[in-house]
Amino acid sequence: MKSQPDIYVFGAYNEVVTPEQCAVIPARCIDDLPSNTSGVVIIGLNNDAQDALLMQLHSSKQFGLWQIFVQQPTVLSSHLSDGLWSAVHELEQWHYHQQRLAMITGTAFDPMIAWLWLNPERRLLAKPQSDLSLLYRYPLLECYYSNSEAPYGYLQSQVSKGYLQPDKLIDKIRQCPACHSGHLNYLETCPACFSPDIEERISLHCFTCGHVSAQDNFIRRGQLECPNCLTQIRHIGVDYDRPLETFHCNGCKHAFVEATTKVRCLDCLTLNDINILIPRKIYTYQLGIQATHTIRYGQALAVPELTLNGKVDVGYFHSLLVWINKLAQRHQQSHLILGMHLPGLKDYAYRYGEVQMFSLTEQISERLNGLMRDTDICCQYRPDLMLLLMPMTSNSSLPVLQNKIVQLADVIEESEFSLEIYAWSLPDSSLNDDAPFWLQQCLQELNDNG
Ligand SMILES: [Zn+2]
Ligand SMILES: [Zn+2]
Ligand SMILES: [Zn+2]
Repeated sequence: MKSQPDIYVFGAYNEVVTPEQCAVIPARCIDDLPSNTSGVVIIGLNNDAQDALLMQLHSSKQFGLWQIFVQQPTVLSSHLSDGLWSAVHELEQWHYHQQRLAMITGTAFDPMIAWLWLNPERRLLAKPQSDLSLLYRYPLLECYYSNSEAPYGYLQSQVSKGYLQPDKLIDKIRQCPACHSGHLNYLETCPACFSPDIEERISLHCFTCGHVSAQDNFIRRGQLECPNCLTQIRHIGVDYDRPLETFHCNGCKHAFVEATTKVRCLDCLTLNDINILIPRKIYTYQLGIQATHTIRYGQALAVPELTLNGKVDVGYFHSLLVWINKLAQRHQQSHLILGMHLPGLKDYAYRYGEVQMFSLTEQISERLNGLMRDTDICCQYRPDLMLLLMPMTSNSSLPVLQNKIVQLADVIEESEFSLEIYAWSLPDSSLNDDAPFWLQQCLQELNDNG
């Protein structure tokens, strides 16, 4: 292995210090870069040229194993490069990069996944783009998958397969159900005919004759007087009041209390109800466990999760909770849900490698199986979170369970690893029919703690 990188420079090289023994090689186009090795690229070009080159480097899919730096930030530099070059720091990084490269033994890896894996700081970032109907784009994804016009579905499938995992939530958007555009205009409409031509109007109601009309019609010679019975009205609540219906439709003349909010899609012009819009959460992404395995061993992970008896998937677990909660309410039963959270699991794999992580999860599974009864249901809710539904178990059984859990924690803590246990009991009237929401509320405390 070489001790210093070959550095390929596009444009100007501003660094006063040239790293010792490094060859600094000027490059004009990507064909000047060797394709059979991995090196360091430093770009010193102006805005558009620099971004175009960054796109070209990634789109060629040949430089996913390289390190790419810029000398001044541009629009795409945070998406497609390792950031600003500084010779001293980056040479340390280079040695680390070489170690990561040496760990790649698989050959059938995805080049974008490889790029993200080589430096754990790298992320798949989202860029807001107002002229785009999807509102956000993922430039790195576009380079590697040029037909990724609908990135959200693709990202979701990669998350469900464990190749990517959400990193930070940066925005929430809503899309038109007809054309998926995010260019939406929200408007207040008449609840009878959905015309947007409505206005707020203050009306008065005369107690003497029951006449209702716009306030303007009651004003005579600077005083309030009913236009129908000509009674002078002075005191609200005594002579007159204001009807609740303060909106008026100029189309169908309907008077109403509350306008209906509708959404016009500015791209396909469909008028939609708010509740049928497609909500999307816009995240930045980092690699999932499955991706790491593919990179290291060239194949997908055979046993990605803890192997437990009585294990069910998330959807099934949700419907089970709703059902068993209703049973508990009807028959005065109590059920216990244990949440077992392993907060450091992701970092553990990074730090100690997959082999060690596998032996750890095997031990955890074994102990968990010992803890479970035949009737307990287990669900791997997230890679680092296991939920255990223990039917016909009340909170008072917790001390008994505690002993077993302590044993379990011992195994785990040998590996400088912590296990957090949470418990929730059923019935819970707030569960209703929405188990995902209820669980999210429960898990909030866990997120708050860690
Ligand atoms: Zn009147
Ligand atoms: Zn109307
Ligand atoms: Zn539309």
